[in-house]
Amino acid sequence: MPVSAGLGLDDGIDHVPGVGPRTGERLRARGLATITDLLFHLPRRYDDLRRVTPIAALASVPSGTTVLVRGTVARVRIFPHRLLDVFVEQDGMRVRARWFRPPRGMQKSFTKGAAVALAGPLRRLEDGAGEPDLVFELVQPSVQRLGPGEPERPADLGAGIRARYPAITGVGARVLEKVIATAVDRYGERVPEALGAQMRARLGLPPIGAALRTIHARPGSWSDESSPDELARQRASARRRLAFEDLLVVQLGLAAGRRQARAGAARACADVDVGAVLRAVRAALPFELTAAQAQAIDDIAGDMARPHPMQRLLAGDVGSGKTAVAFAAAALAAAAGGQTLLMAPTEVLVEQHLRTLTALAARLAGSSVRAARFTSSMSRAERAETLARCRAGEIQLLVGTQALLESPPDFADLTLAIVDEQHRFGVAQRARLRRAGDGGSALIPHLLVMSATPIPRTLALTLYGDLDVTFLRELPPGRQPVETEILSGDEGRANAQARLEAAVRAGRQAYVVCPVRTRAERAGAITAVARAAELRRALGPAGVRVGLLHGELDAATKEARLRAFAGGAIDVLVATTVIELGIDVPNATVMLVEEADRFGLAQLHQLRGRVGRGAFGGACLLCTTSAVPAHGDAGQRLAELAATRDGFRIAEADLALRGHGDIFGARQAGTPRWRCDDPAAYVDLLELARVERDRIEVDDPALVRPEHERLRAAVLARWAAGAVYGAETG
Ligand code: ADP
Ligand code: MG
Repeated sequence: MPVSAGLGLDDGIDHVPGVGPRTGERLRARGLATITDLLFHLPRRYDDLRRVTPIAALASVPSGTTVLVRGTVARVRIFPHRLLDVFVEQDGMRVRARWFRPPRGMQKSFTKGAAVALAGPLRRLEDGAGEPDLVFELVQPSVQRLGPGEPERPADLGAGIRARYPAITGVGARVLEKVIATAVDRYGERVPEALGAQMRARLGLPPIGAALRTIHARPGSWSDESSPDELARQRASARRRLAFEDLLVVQLGLAAGRRQARAGAARACADVDVGAVLRAVRAALPFELTAAQAQAIDDIAGDMARPHPMQRLLAGDVGSGKTAVAFAAAALAAAAGGQTLLMAPTEVLVEQHLRTLTALAARLAGSSVRAARFTSSMSRAERAETLARCRAGEIQLLVGTQALLESPPDFADLTLAIVDEQHRFGVAQRARLRRAGDGGSALIPHLLVMSATPIPRTLALTLYGDLDVTFLRELPPGRQPVETEILSGDEGRANAQARLEAAVRAGRQAYVVCPVRTRAERAGAITAVARAAELRRALGPAGVRVGLLHGELDAATKEARLRAFAGGAIDVLVATTVIELGIDVPNATVMLVEEADRFGLAQLHQLRGRVGRGAFGGACLLCTTSAVPAHGDAGQRLAELAATRDGFRIAEADLALRGHGDIFGARQAGTPRWRCDDPAAYVDLLELARVERDRIEVDDPALVRPEHERLRAAVLARWAAGAVYGAETG
């Protein structure tokens, strides 16, 4: 029975006073269904309304801060149904309170000379809005009239410190705040403590109930005299508490998944003469393996020799030569009489792999590897024929899109599954794959996941804790470095454009990457649609063919455009970041990135990997809109990118500079959602959580000891039920 049973935490939000049917419906629409969901809906910021700010002192308060002011009503101005302005005066200084679409008759509550208190966000008026001496306004403030003998602190305006939550459509901010406050007051202390007292003491983390109270600013009284710094420190500590649990729960789940997967049976390629196969592989390759590739192949051969399924991630920078490693693995499987399934995210990549691998296989002495493709664009008849050959064992290597997994084909003997560019390929997909190998034999295929996402080691070991990780950190020799330049302002862009045109005139191809597709996504942005039109106008007359690629296109159109570019029928491909995935067009030598400061470093590095793949070298031109070159944080980041081509160093720099970002978006599909908005902001916690996980893995891996009972419950509750532990002890 769950530890939390009977505590009401899994009850619906309707149990919280103040949640009526309409509010309930809107909260549920935002994914807040249970009381636990409410407790873990965290504020975005806090308003400190413990003290009244004199109107004369507003100049020292940053714009946007919510302030509490007092004064007397000096003037009221109403534009019916549209605007209500109330001018409030204190010690000869005035501030304007402005409400849009005020309720009918609202102005009646402001009589000239009445004492009021107002709380709202502060805005500086550019030109005094035509009013002499008027510098500030409060936007849509809450208001309280103060009678004679007025209370020193108008409690109605807010309970001192106010937690502000991300807005939920149709639910007033005040209602949301009250509902969550009620939930925290009633249920906060009942949340089972997943982290044992010893662990918390070791790590200096507060108990869960206290952490939730701090985060939600409960009870948030006027009498709390802590300084703003002290409050910030307490909140940071409370958030660390949540982040740590997030990280630990994910790691424990992954570790359990890893044990489960390893307990399965796989075809051991033990009788294979590995040395002979690898000699044949080396002879077939048109180049010498790098030391890193050779090491990776050794790791894989070691895994595949065991009668339990390999679970390995090959994390290799763009262009580090993962395909050759995949080929060696497939050759080992074939030598053992087994089959390999290689999955890629797009048809273009499937064809690219098929070309490379078929050519290599033709040169492979000693064992035969016949390759075939399997994609949704094949006709029914073609697919049926391929499947029949697969079942008959005539095909050793089937290359297809990840859509294959929707209905994995029957194999005679699926021994190895390789997933290239593992985007969106997570825990759930792997589980399905395990069943796919089942073909009556109860054997689970060995799994090799290949990723070019440069991810720092610590993060990889956290996010992919269910996999063994091999890093491929070395690029093949003689690679032309992609020259990376930062170009700012209009002049910089013109320069970049000129270089792009020169490359195209010389018969090369180019990418132009824009941060968004259309203005609808961000006003004022340089959009892919507009940029493509502009380039067509400018270069079309000279015979330059411009193509457009973005995520809104249907899959078939996207494929067709990528293919046209790969085949040379498009000279300049204007795109959003959809081109990130491993497409290899050696003739593309220039990449121009618009508004480069808007991208994450790791992402830019991935993009940059698309050029300089052939004999011509390549250039990545990072355009920034501001005229100031390399300013501030963005400048430092881009400079870092220009200075190194080691994707892992870049990822580490990104993590250190930003503490989070796209990297953490790499959370595997199928793992629990983070409760804490940004656990990777606590970089040190990654390591601490891993140490705790390792300690538990040694001590009590199935979490059956009493002191781990609640931790186990937390892991089970957060992971899809039964995905972990169930099979071990259940
Ligand atoms: P990725 O890791 O990005 O998938 P690929 O496998 O596509 O990289 O390899 C990138 C390019 O490098 C290919 O053209 C490939 O032929 C070449 N390559 C791979 N390994 C080596 C090597 N050891 N020496 C020279 N070139 C290599
Ligand atoms: Mg690749």
